[in-house]
Amino acid sequence: MKIVIVGGVAGGATAAARLRRLSEDSEIIVLERGPDVSFANCGLPYYIGGVIEDREELLLHTPESLSQRYRLDVRVKSEALSIDTAGKTIRIRDIAGNREYTETFDKLLLSPGAFPVRPPIPGADNPLVRTLRNVSDTDALTELALKGGNAVVVGGGFIGIEMAESLCRRGIAVDLVEARPQILWNLDPEMAWPAQKRMEKNGVRVRLNETVSAITPQDNRLTVTTKSGLTLPASFVLLAIGVKPETSLAREAGIQIGVTGGIQVDEKMRTSSPDIYAVGDAVEVSHRVTGKPVLPYLAGPANRQARIAADSMMGRAEKYSGAITTAIVGIFGLQVASSGVTEKTLKAESIPYLKAYLHPLNHAGYYPGGSRLHMKILFTPKDGRILGIQAVGDEGADKRVDVIALAIRSGMTVNDLAEAELAYAPQFGSARDPVNQAGLVAGNILSGDMVPAYPDELAGLQAKGAIILDVRTKSEFRLGRIPNSLHIPIDDLRTRLGEVPKKGPVIVCCQVGLRGYVAARILVQSGYDARNLMGGFLTYESFGLEIAKGG
Ligand code: FAD
Repeated sequence: MKIVIVGGVAGGATAAARLRRLSEDSEIIVLERGPDVSFANCGLPYYIGGVIEDREELLLHTPESLSQRYRLDVRVKSEALSIDTAGKTIRIRDIAGNREYTETFDKLLLSPGAFPVRPPIPGADNPLVRTLRNVSDTDALTELALKGGNAVVVGGGFIGIEMAESLCRRGIAVDLVEARPQILWNLDPEMAWPAQKRMEKNGVRVRLNETVSAITPQDNRLTVTTKSGLTLPASFVLLAIGVKPETSLAREAGIQIGVTGGIQVDEKMRTSSPDIYAVGDAVEVSHRVTGKPVLPYLAGPANRQARIAADSMMGRAEKYSGAITTAIVGIFGLQVASSGVTEKTLKAESIPYLKAYLHPLNHAGYYPGGSRLHMKILFTPKDGRILGIQAVGDEGADKRVDVIALAIRSGMTVNDLAEAELAYAPQFGSARDPVNQAGLVAGNILSGDMVPAYPDELAGLQAKGAIILDVRTKSEFRLGRIPNSLHIPIDDLRTRLGEVPKKGPVIVCCQVGLRGYVAARILVQSGYDARNLMGGFLTYESFGLEIAKGG
C-alpha cells in the first residue's frame, strides 16, 4: 500500500510511526511544508522563556532520524497543493527545489493542523507582530525576547498565557490584552479569576474587555491601540487570539467541511472521500458530553486520532469515540485544569445541570505544605452524571481533573466519585480525597440534604427577604464579608438561634462551605429554610462582588 501523509508533526508523525509498526511493506511518504518534523509544539513557549535551554530538545526527531527509525520517505519543505480525489493523486510543491510534481496514493492522511488567526487590524502585518506555531516562529520570538523591553500579548488563551509567563521570565514587561471579560475562555469566569490574580501578582498587566484596533510603528517600536482608546507601547507584539483549522486543501478537493469549519470525519477518522483520512487540529469531532461537533485543538486527541486513522487504514476496527477537551495550563506555578463542559456551555446548549464548588486542601492539613484547591463540578440533576470539572491550585489540580476526566469519559456519577478509592498518604492527599469530597458535596445537593445558594443569586434572594448568616470567626468576618451579613460563629449558633429571623430563607456563609453545611443542617432541623452558600466566602470572592471589611 502506498500512503501519503500531509503534515509531519503531532498527528502526521504519530500516524506514520503507527503505520510502520503495523506494516513493514507499505510505502509511507510524509510531506511537511516546514523545515522540521515531529517537534514539540507544546514546549515552544518554554524554550522562549528559557526553561528549556537546549533548542535540540524541541526536535523530537530530525527528518533523517524519523526517516531512519521508521523507514519513511520524509520530505520537508514540501507542500501539498491539491488533491485529485477521484484519480487518487496529490500535487506537491518542492519548496527548496522550486518545482512541482504529482504523487499517487492508495490512502491519504491529512494532519495539516491549525493556523494562528491574524485579524485584519491595521499594522498587524508589521514584522514585530508575531504569532507562535512552529520552531521558526520560536526562533524569531526568542530573538525578540532576548533584546528586552516590553511586549503586548493579545489573547488570554493557553498560548497567550504561557507566553506572557515566558516573556516575564526573560525580564520583559507584559501587557496582556483580552477582548472578552475573562481570560481562559475554556473556564467559567469565576474559575479563571484566580488565574488572572496569579498573573497580576507576577507583574502581568491583564487588560480585559479590550479589543486591539490598530498597531502603529514608531522608531522601531510599536504602539497598540484598543477600541476603548487605550494605548500600549511595545517592543513587539504576540498575537495569540486563536487558531483556525487548515482546511483549504480538503475544501478545494471537495471534502466535506463541518459546521465548526473543521474537516468532517467519521469515527474511523475517514473523511467524506473514500481512502482519505484526517486527524488533529484540522478535524471536527463529537464532544462526548454534548454530542455537538467541536475543535479540541489539543495534542492528546490528535495523537489518539492518528493512531486510530492508521489502524483504520490497515483494516483494524478501532473507533474514535469523541473528545472531552481535558486541558491544563500552568500560570506562575498555578495549575489550571478542566475537563468536560463548563456552565457557560451548558447554559448555551440548554442542558439541565447542577453545580457544586469546593475548596479542599490538596493533602492532609496537618502535613506541612498543603495548598488550597478551587474546584467546580457540574452534573445532571436527574442522576448526577458528571458533565464537567474545573480545578485550580498550586498542587494537585492536575491529578483531580485527570481522575474526574476518566469518570466523565466512563459516564460515571458524582456518587461514583464519593466512593472512589484513591491512593492516600498525608503528603499526597486525604483519606477523603478532594475527588471524594467533590462527589460528596454534589451528592448532598442531589439528595436534597443540602440546598445550595450561589453568589450570583444572593442579591435577588436578599431583595426577597433572605438574610445572609456568616458563621465564621470574628477575625475572618472582619477581614472580608458579604455586605449586610448577620454574624453568629458556628459554635454559638445553637445557643443564639433566637437571633436568626425565620421569615425568609437564611443563606449561610462560611469560608469554604463546610461549616456552612453544618450550620445549615442545624437551621433546617430547627424549621428554617436554610441554604448553604456553595464554596463559602472564597467562591463569593471569585465572583468579583462587593465585599465589606472591618467592624
Ligand atoms: P500540527 O502538529 O500543527 O502539525 C501540522 C503540520 O502540518 C504543520 O507542521 C504544518 O506545517 C503542516 N502542513 C500544513 N499544511 C500543509 C500542507 N499543505 N503541506 C504540507 N504540510 C502541511 N496541546 C496540548 O494538548 N497541550 C499543550 O500544552 C499545547 N501547547 C501548545 C503550544 C503551542 C505553542 C502550540 C502552537 C500548540 C500547543 N498545543 C498544545 C496544541 C497541539 O500542539 C496541537 O493540538 C497538535 O500539534 C495538533 O496536531 P496536528 O498534527 O493536527 O497539527
